Amino acid sequence: MAKRTKYVKPEHREILTAEVLASKRISPNFVRVTIGGEGLAGYTAMGFDQWFRLFVRGKDGNLKLPTSASSLGWYAQYLMMGKEHRPLVRNYTVRDYRAAGFGEFGSTAEIDIDFVSHGNDSPASAWADNTTPGEKVGLLDEGIMYQAPDHTEFSVLVGDESALPAIAGALRSAPRDLKGAAFIEIPHADDAQRLGEPEGVQVNWLVRADAHGEIGTLAAEAVRAAEIPAKGVYGFIAGEQKLASGVRRHLAQDREIPKADITFTGYWRVGKSAG
Ligand SMILES: Cc1cc2nc3c(=O)[nH]c(=O)nc-3n(C[C@H](O)[C@H](O)[C@H](O)COP(=O)(O)OP(=O)(O)OC[C@H]3O[C@@H](n4cnc5c(N)ncnc54)[C@H](O)[C@@H]3O)c2cc1C
Repeated sequence: MAKRTKYVKPEHREILTAEVLASKRISPNFVRVTIGGEGLAGYTAMGFDQWFRLFVRGKDGNLKLPTSASSLGWYAQYLMMGKEHRPLVRNYTVRDYRAAGFGEFGSTAEIDIDFVSHGNDSPASAWADNTTPGEKVGLLDEGIMYQAPDHTEFSVLVGDESALPAIAGALRSAPRDLKGAAFIEIPHADDAQRLGEPEGVQVNWLVRADAHGEIGTLAAEAVRAAEIPAKGVYGFIAGEQKLASGVRRHLAQDREIPKADITFTGYWRVGKSAG
């Protein structure tokens, strides 16, 4: 069987510049930041869980961007900048994309980013809580990871709140006849969102009793208890590292889903900064 590549990468790589157009708290634990500007003319929307590296101002308050966009090149330049002058770089998902002319805030293309708001000690989260219109950012498109192989008929999507935008994007882009189940763990019932899922996909919102308690256990338990077809299943799992690797292990070992039919990504790790 041909081996699937993990990512569908964009054809063209370039660090684009954009600016914050708006920022608002949309639910107890999410802040939506909308970026736009002429620089987004170079962005190609691919749908699904399309993600990107977001560059925002560094410790010195300035935004200094690498000029190379190759995967090793930008990082080498970033390291060379020195700690005080480096931008803050974190990974985020396109929650919504509006082409030029269809924007809510102006005439350029727009991207909505839904940030989990998880405290002032987390630099990207704190940035989203405090940014204001006009602030410049950089964006490096990294493409998509969700790829349900043609021989699968049923998708199981699992994540914590950090993966809500990715699962939302995948379900909105998926064929309308997709069958499946999504398990999304969130801190508060009001953090649930409309996802535009196909009719045959059941979305399960799993609300933690303690919003800031252990993340991922509820989602993992729900998947273990779920009725999932014995064959033809694709798994997409994202979020806290232990959740992603634990659910992958369950799907592969207990449900005997071929590993090649599972995409799993640790988005973040308890107690560990991505910086
Ligand atoms: C492909 C990809 C797409 C992603 N898309 C999104 C997205 O659309 N929205 C989104 O909010 N996140 C998303 N993430 C996760 C995001 O990149 C991380 O949460 C990142 O660590 C946040 O950076 P920070 O500076 O706020 O915190 P860091 O400096 O990385 O971490 C500081 C502390 O916060 C904790 N922490 C980090 N993330 C969380 C969290 N979500 N909840 C609770 N504690 C946390 C860490 O364990 C650490 O103790 C994505 C990650 C990947 C790899």
